Amino acid sequence: MSYKTEELAFANTPAAHPMASTPVQPATSRSTADYRALDAAHHIHPFSDMGALNRAGSRVIVNAQGVHLWDSDGNKIIDGMAGLWCVNVGYGRKELADAAYRQMQALPYYNTFFKTTHPPVIELSALLAELTPEPFRHFFYCNSGSEGNDTVLRIVHQYWATQRQPAKKFVIARKNAYHGSTIAGGTLGGMAYMHEQMPSKVENVVHIDQPYFFGEASSDQTPEEFVLLRARQLEEKILELGANNVAAFIGEPFQGAGGVIFPAATYWPEIQRICRKYDVLLVADEVIGGFGRTGEWFAHQHFGFEPDLITLAKGLTSGYVPMGAVGLHDRVARALIDHGDFNHGLTYSGHPVAAAVAVANLKLLRDEKIVARVKADTGPYFQKKLRDTFAGHPIVGEISGAGLVAGVQLAQEPHTRTRFANGVDVGTLCRDFCFNGNLVMRASGDRMLLSPPLVISRPEIDEIVTKAKAAIDATARELGML
Ligand SMILES: *Cc1c(COP(=O)(O)O)cnc(C)c1O
Repeated sequence: MSYKTEELAFANTPAAHPMASTPVQPATSRSTADYRALDAAHHIHPFSDMGALNRAGSRVIVNAQGVHLWDSDGNKIIDGMAGLWCVNVGYGRKELADAAYRQMQALPYYNTFFKTTHPPVIELSALLAELTPEPFRHFFYCNSGSEGNDTVLRIVHQYWATQRQPAKKFVIARKNAYHGSTIAGGTLGGMAYMHEQMPSKVENVVHIDQPYFFGEASSDQTPEEFVLLRARQLEEKILELGANNVAAFIGEPFQGAGGVIFPAATYWPEIQRICRKYDVLLVADEVIGGFGRTGEWFAHQHFGFEPDLITLAKGLTSGYVPMGAVGLHDRVARALIDHGDFNHGLTYSGHPVAAAVAVANLKLLRDEKIVARVKADTGPYFQKKLRDTFAGHPIVGEISGAGLVAGVQLAQEPHTRTRFANGVDVGTLCRDFCFNGNLVMRASGDRMLLSPPLVISRPEIDEIVTKAKAAIDATARELGML
């Protein structure tokens, strides 16, 4: 089948997510009030103000199918965020449940530490070698993106030790990056509000500015010029620290939690040039960008650069079970393989159930051509629909993104890139309108984010964009700007 006929086929086919027609019921059934009371009594939520949350009450999500969630009051909600950017194949895929069930019966757990291995982790490694770009043939496993980035640090330091350059120990990251919430992940990330609560950090991590054109460029700069200057901060920082002391640069190809910030095309080639020039490892945190989000299998392919290490999680299992991984470029892998013990591992490295689910998930993404459809059909459709819908909107400053990920910048004065004054919590306001409209759309400061399951159909995209428009209109009205 030629690419062209494939494209036509996508345009005429509804989303390919065959699944049970009614969602499966959960194991317990309580009233919403009971669930909330018990949740408030015993559960500390991540990234939350627990006092405020307990007074308001959490929304209880009980089941899900395709791109929709149901809460304990029976409300049907469209999930514009694929959970937390992870449910790439959509909810309710029996193939993944079956894979877990079979593997739990065959071998629920065994470790991969002491000269042992098992079929699922072998199959997964071979499949990842096939799906990632050519130089990536080796993978190390963990349970999350945060652990993936902890592992990246361990590999980077081990790599330079094997090269007899142990002084190369600084890692350069970026402000407003997100690399997870373990101590190493939180340190690598550039979220000021996280650093404030982290008096203990890992050593030798420094940050440069982010390529956030809308928020940080001066009025006379083009996006291409601006991001080039931001990339050159990497060179300045390397020279300041001394190239002999710099081990690696880490970045998300596009910043996810930081606001779906898509750098202009000049950014990544310049970052790569600088890393090569000073012999600094280039790490792409693909935790959100990986597994089809931009329409390419990996976001670094979208931006056209070649990292030395890639961090994987989220879409690796579509979030059905926890799993993370690090992919090693052949030259890094060879150094580790040829130099004795690597003293790092987790009880659940390569967990058989997680690996079996990952294999089933990746086969769906590949064999149902889900990633190909994002690139040829639903991705371009989603991007155009958002741009058409918000063109000239009084509080929308820009739409960023590619494939099935987008950021909507809310602004006081879109044309002059004037943002809302501090104190106007426009993102929270808008998110509350989305919530009440049964749309999950996340706020990151004054940017509204979308990252739906990759199996979403055109009519479902229409539903999300219509609901997002209603919420953003309501926000503008509330502020007296519409
Ligand atoms: C979510 C995320 C992480 C952390 O992954 P966890 O599984 O939450 O530990 C790391 N990097 C990026 C880019 C992420 O979006």
